[in-house]
Amino acid sequence: MTYPDVLLHINGAWRGSKSGKSIAILNPATEETIGTVAHADKADLDEALEAAAAGFKAWRAVAPFDRAKLMRKAADILRERADHIAPLMVQEQGKTLAEAKMETLAGADVIDWMAEEGKRTYGRVIPPRAPGVYQLSLREPVGPVAAFTPWNFPINQVVRKLSAALASGCSIIVKAPEETPASPAELIRAFVDAGIPAGVINLVYGVPAEISEYLIPHPIIRKISFTGSTSVGKQLAALAGLHMKRATMELGGHAPAIVFNDADVTKAAAVLSGAKYRNAGQVCVSPTRMLVQDKVYNEFVDKFVEGTKAVKVGNGLDAASKMGALANPRRVQAIEGMVQDAVAKGAKLKAGGARIGNKGYFFEPTVITDVPKDARAMNEEPFGPLALISPFSSFEEVEVEANRLPYGLASYAFTGSTKTATALGSVIESGMLAINGAPLALPEVPFGGIKDSGYGSEGGTEALEGYLNIKYITQSAS
Ligand code: NAD
Repeated sequence: MTYPDVLLHINGAWRGSKSGKSIAILNPATEETIGTVAHADKADLDEALEAAAAGFKAWRAVAPFDRAKLMRKAADILRERADHIAPLMVQEQGKTLAEAKMETLAGADVIDWMAEEGKRTYGRVIPPRAPGVYQLSLREPVGPVAAFTPWNFPINQVVRKLSAALASGCSIIVKAPEETPASPAELIRAFVDAGIPAGVINLVYGVPAEISEYLIPHPIIRKISFTGSTSVGKQLAALAGLHMKRATMELGGHAPAIVFNDADVTKAAAVLSGAKYRNAGQVCVSPTRMLVQDKVYNEFVDKFVEGTKAVKVGNGLDAASKMGALANPRRVQAIEGMVQDAVAKGAKLKAGGARIGNKGYFFEPTVITDVPKDARAMNEEPFGPLALISPFSSFEEVEVEANRLPYGLASYAFTGSTKTATALGSVIESGMLAINGAPLALPEVPFGGIKDSGYGSEGGTEALEGYLNIKYITQSAS
């Protein structure tokens, strides 16, 4: 199985860093070094900034209709190459081949959708107070964007920012994840091979803090978009605020999943255990706190544990694996620590709970119940294959628990009652609420959080708004 030495892409050229520095890439399933990624320094960033400034001038002049044509060509190239790209993602990130292929194909769908929506960045004509006056509200691209993306969905996290930026007429510098660099580089290559003009898309890797501290304040950058942890997001949002830069922040979550007595419990357990172990739980919208009403509690626990035990863990390249390795040793340590803490505080371990073997970052799909509210896992984002199940008795009680944490990204609920579903819609504090299913993250729907989970949207027509300025023009008769 091959894996490349990944290069930067600056001003239309693939190249190493000017300093010659590079970073080793590890396969999380084997802990072997599989390749390297070029490590950008300030000289590389300066060139990327100049290129993004020139790229913006060129790209904003391309009509949205023609931008869409090029973007759709890139989407087709990405689809054609999915079988080549997916194994690269598996080797660098650990997820299963099926997940990696689905992510690559879904990336092409995001490009297509944003390409079409870019044609519809309409303005308004506002009725004037006097004859002969035109009052126009126009939408213009904000300018060169700096995007910072994490390792859990190497393509998806880039493609959402990249497609919305390009569809709006912006150029972009992507700081893609150093730990999973090859698949996002292949995404960029699809655009390069489709004919994107030099400078419109620039790709760098390096020390994340050094790059963000240099790019965010830089006068060429007009907008930043970050996906990652709340703690880093707050630092970057503060820096953006200091320099009056527009920002979209897609941060952590700790999703409550509420199952009422009148729910289809079999469906709830199947949907939630399926969603929990997707990408080994390293998903910001992963259902984490299962809150189950007392009459169906035991039944739900049994069915969820059964679903958990059926998840076969193994190297993502093995077709039999349903869950791959965690992406890095930090996640193994974090989950081990949270399980130990919860059990020490009285929680019951119902499935899993330990690392698998001592080579590769594999961890058992894990279920704990009766977890005290002061356990770390009930307050910090696990970001791994850890499900917490707790009982509740009344709507009022579960509303308080669902909204207890500072996070507000995704929430889930299962109920047979329209009245309960409608009531949840008005009281749950989160950017997304999925009732009786879990179809979040489609290109055409909003995707984003509130409270400490961030602001702005990464999906739907709302995603484009983050990359557009509003300009008002009034024109009177001369
Ligand atoms: P981390 O918090 O250090 O990093 C998270 C991401 O932010 C990484 O991609 C990293 O490269 C980037 N980053 C870190 N410091 C940065 C900086 N100063 N400037 C720019 N980018 C920076 O830790 P981690 O171990 O990589 O991930 C741990 C936590 O991050 C997880 O537990 C989870 O809460 C969160 N996370 C969230 C998402 C998401 O989809 N929202 C994705 C990945 C990680």
